[in-house]
Amino acid sequence: MSITYEDIVAAARRIEGYAHRTPVLTSRTANEELGAEIFFKAENMQRMGAFKFRGGFNALSRFNEAQRKAGVVAFSSGNHAQAIALSAKLLGIPATIIMPEDAPASKIAATRGYGGKVVTFDRYKEDREAIGRKLAEEQGMTLIPPYDHADVIAGQGTAAKELFEEVGELDYLFVCLGGGGLLSGSALAARALSPKCKLYGVEPEAGNDGQQSFRSGAIVHIDTPKTIADGAQTQHLGTLTFPIIQREVDDILTASDAELVDAMRFFAARMKIVVEPTGCLGFAAARKMKEQLRGRRVGVLISGGNVDIERFAALLA
Ligand SMILES: *Cc1c(COP(=O)(O)O)cnc(C)c1O
Repeated sequence: MSITYEDIVAAARRIEGYAHRTPVLTSRTANEELGAEIFFKAENMQRMGAFKFRGGFNALSRFNEAQRKAGVVAFSSGNHAQAIALSAKLLGIPATIIMPEDAPASKIAATRGYGGKVVTFDRYKEDREAIGRKLAEEQGMTLIPPYDHADVIAGQGTAAKELFEEVGELDYLFVCLGGGGLLSGSALAARALSPKCKLYGVEPEAGNDGQQSFRSGAIVHIDTPKTIADGAQTQHLGTLTFPIIQREVDDILTASDAELVDAMRFFAARMKIVVEPTGCLGFAAARKMKEQLRGRRVGVLISGGNVDIERFAALLA
């Protein structure tokens, strides 16, 4: 079962009226710095603060009657948890979110605030996937993973689809990369709407499993990387996302934590927007490619804006 651009078109129809059509921002300062024309797709302004609402809502809106009744289960300490909890609430589906007991209190509170039932576990002793499978089996719940799922990938692809529809074809597109849901969906949209666009995925330097996988031709697993980009601390690409990335993406690049902080500062100071560290990956990488980008039309996907304000301030201090 291969995922196609038609699936993204169908996802766009399902999320219409629920997800925001986020703005495309421009900055004269960014254009001057890179000597290029840059278009920022601002998914930090998406509902619940990240693009993950798109994939989560698309997946849940395809549930049949029995699935709706039994509910959804997801494990995540981050944006996927909030995306599933909010989508489930909007669709009237019970949601159980499995989170580590030491997850930031603000994230647990946000997930509960969206109506999700939070089940905590000890991340050093218990296996969250086993807990998820157990709930799925015993209570008939449907498990929705954060990236390796056809409906999630198709939903994530709607952000790039909107970007190309709004600004037309681009020469380059930079996309933040964790497990590859956003990148593979963006790739399918790019190939349909802007076939000549060069497409780059960007990972934290400390966790370049995707780059290693892309260059070696097989999925590489790593230990949880130490980086401020907590949305991209994934240990490996997915079995669905990797083949799409391998086929459609031009390369995987990296950015260091210091470069992410610089980009975060730029977004705050120059564009007056709050972007979480992971959301800065695309722009941080683009800034290192001035030579190639000069005179070009460049898309940058800003993936999310969920960062505790105290942490935001501390990172910029
Ligand atoms: C999840 C997430 C990513 C990575 O997305 P994948 O689909 O796992 O590659 C990037 N940025 C933010 C803000 C995220 O929440």
